[in-house]
Amino acid sequence: MKRYSLYFVEEHELFRQSVRQFIDKEVIPHTEAWETNRRIPASVFQRLGELGYLGLPYPEEFGGVNADFWYSVVFLEELARCGMGGFSTAVSVHQYMAVNHIAKVGSYDLKQRYLAPAVAGHKVAALAITEPDAGSDVSAIRTTAIRTDTGDEFVVNGTKTFISNGTYGDFVTLAVRTNGPAAGSNGLSLLVVDLDSPGVTRTKLNKIGWHSSDTAEIRFDEVRVPAANLIGQENKGFYYLMESLQLERLVAAILSVSGAQLALDWTLQYLNEREAFGKKIGAFQAIRHKIADVATEIEMARQFVYHTCWLFTQGETVVKECSMAKLATSEMQKRVVDTCLQFFGGYGYIEDYPIARAYRDVRVGTIAGGSSEIMREIIAKIVIDAVAYKPVYNQG
Ligand SMILES: Cc1cc2nc3c(=O)[nH]c(=O)nc-3n(C[C@H](O)[C@H](O)[C@H](O)COP(=O)(O)OP(=O)(O)OC[C@H]3O[C@@H](n4cnc5c(N)ncnc54)[C@H](O)[C@@H]3O)c2cc1C
Repeated sequence: MKRYSLYFVEEHELFRQSVRQFIDKEVIPHTEAWETNRRIPASVFQRLGELGYLGLPYPEEFGGVNADFWYSVVFLEELARCGMGGFSTAVSVHQYMAVNHIAKVGSYDLKQRYLAPAVAGHKVAALAITEPDAGSDVSAIRTTAIRTDTGDEFVVNGTKTFISNGTYGDFVTLAVRTNGPAAGSNGLSLLVVDLDSPGVTRTKLNKIGWHSSDTAEIRFDEVRVPAANLIGQENKGFYYLMESLQLERLVAAILSVSGAQLALDWTLQYLNEREAFGKKIGAFQAIRHKIADVATEIEMARQFVYHTCWLFTQGETVVKECSMAKLATSEMQKRVVDTCLQFFGGYGYIEDYPIARAYRDVRVGTIAGGSSEIMREIIAKIVIDAVAYKPVYNQG
């Protein structure tokens, strides 16, 4: 079998072609409509499900494909090539962040009721951790879930904010406090909550970018949730979240590298079209050298992300590398898109040009899913204080 790199074989590349075709034919032509309407039709998730894309990492028993992680890498790289940060976010949050906990430590019943329909694209999922008064500091969340006297239900009260897929999604993996504030990070749990439950109020937020993804503030007033919707063990939620953040950050890094490459590809094409002073602007050395820098930055980032993906596939707890990958790639993509837009001149500032959308979309990359400051904090703790992280899921 022909090897395409250290990581990809021919099957991965064939798969890449099929995802690229799907993105070219069934996603990109709808860019304007989805960005303007600020939502993706539910039918698109169903189509993604039909094609098997939403089940790449999940077991066949629940409709998944059980493919190796490199298929997910290919899928995410191609997803980012749609040029809509919002679409890439909506799909990747659903697939790799919201249902991941259910797949890892959820009961068989939860997997049947939520993982299987999410894999099929029949239900859209969200992950709600952030609250109006607690973002970076996850252990400070205040949304409570109190067991009823009979013990068969939780009653949820609180507010979450900035929740991707929160407005139109069907269910949410919700981080809640099941033990008083004094318990800190030892008092958090994860619950699956249907978003059409009585007592749930959703308000759509107006963002500067990622327009095709919907982002919501969600209020929970006396929302009754079956105790069977608890994911894994009670009061272990913080540790589940911390472990899965590695995958979340790796996903963000893969999307960032591919998004930066797309911006470069658009720019290379433009350099070859646009003329000034009687020559193509790609002939000017000032621009050529900047492009060389950009291409180098992207390639360095790509190889580090691939290496981190490889470590991840070895089952290692790659907190340091995933944090470095998220930090380096989100900052890199911001620089790259800014530089690329410059070479479009005035057209770069006009909404008809996708680089303008990329400029709006890229800004949130260093904030969402763990800010650059938080990534630096984590890396500093490992590098300076020799803090070590252990796996959580497989501790039962
Ligand atoms: C478009 C969008 C989509 C999102 N999607 C989701 C989602 O689906 N689910 C979800 O749960 N959340 C989501 N988020 C929330 C996102 O993860 C948080 O915004 C992020 O974690 C930062 O939290 P915060 O906004 O409360 O900022 P804060 O925690 O209040 O931070 C404010 C500033 O202080 C800095 N700071 C905080 N602590 C430290 C420290 N110890 N050292 C140095 N600096 C520090 C931060 O880096 C930041 O610059 C989304 C956010 C956006 C904007």
